[in-house]
Amino acid sequence: MSTVVFVHAHPDDEALLTSGTMARLSDRGYRVVLIMATDGAAGLTSHEISDDQDLAQVRKAELTQSCRVLGVSAFHQLGYADSGLDGQAPVPGGAIRFADTPTELVADQLVSIFEHEAADIVVGYDAAGGYGHPDHIQIHRTVRAAAQLYPSAPLLEATLPREPMLKIVRLIRSGRWAVPALAGLDLETWQNAFTPRAKLNFRVDVRPYLAAKRASLQAHASQAAADDGPRTLSALLKLPKPVFRRVLGHEWYHQASPGDGARTGLLIDAFGPRYRPRRRRADKT
Ligand SMILES: [Zn+2]
Repeated sequence: MSTVVFVHAHPDDEALLTSGTMARLSDRGYRVVLIMATDGAAGLTSHEISDDQDLAQVRKAELTQSCRVLGVSAFHQLGYADSGLDGQAPVPGGAIRFADTPTELVADQLVSIFEHEAADIVVGYDAAGGYGHPDHIQIHRTVRAAAQLYPSAPLLEATLPREPMLKIVRLIRSGRWAVPALAGLDLETWQNAFTPRAKLNFRVDVRPYLAAKRASLQAHASQAAADDGPRTLSALLKLPKPVFRRVLGHEWYHQASPGDGARTGLLIDAFGPRYRPRRRRADKT
């Protein structure tokens, strides 16, 4: 049985970026392993939840439920503190922010898990760290470093195509599409966010697994609750079914390293076929 290891920054990132792929792989007989770097305790939530309960515990229970619906075989928590969007989140005594942790230290931890789980394929994050959260950039850096110490497994990086994301941000900023919570989006960040379509290597069709993806998103209830208007997660869950299918029906990967030749066939079976981007007029920005 072949094993695919996904490394994520915060509980709910797996739901947003790779849950359809995880459900598809476990359904097709792969072992799916999840490594979670932080407890997600700096994530926003409504005061109702954060005042009454330890947010880290709530998010761990939610993640356990998400793993259950996605068929995850093994789950590892590295236990670092969530660095927060500005990299300065206050941390409880003794805890270390993930973004402040030396790359080599995390890479060594990752490699020992890859070895323990006999990872055949490894999945990290793109160079931009998605929209640039310091913990996401740290996942990119540390998984790349770990992959160099564990070169047999091909390395994929979960991402989204930059051009359509940028189009959405422009629409919101122009006021033609009112999403008050997102009105302050900084155009410069999004011009460099995620990955240009030309560098995408796999587009996994997860439309048959959207029920599992929805259940995984729903498991992260604390992230759907917020005092300050709609959050990404609750906005996605409210989309009408056909729009949900269109927006979340595919998951995207950049291939960062080839792994050994013997695993190429496995990679194509797991994530294939390879994506060949067509040049689209709509992508010219
Ligand atoms: Zn995150």
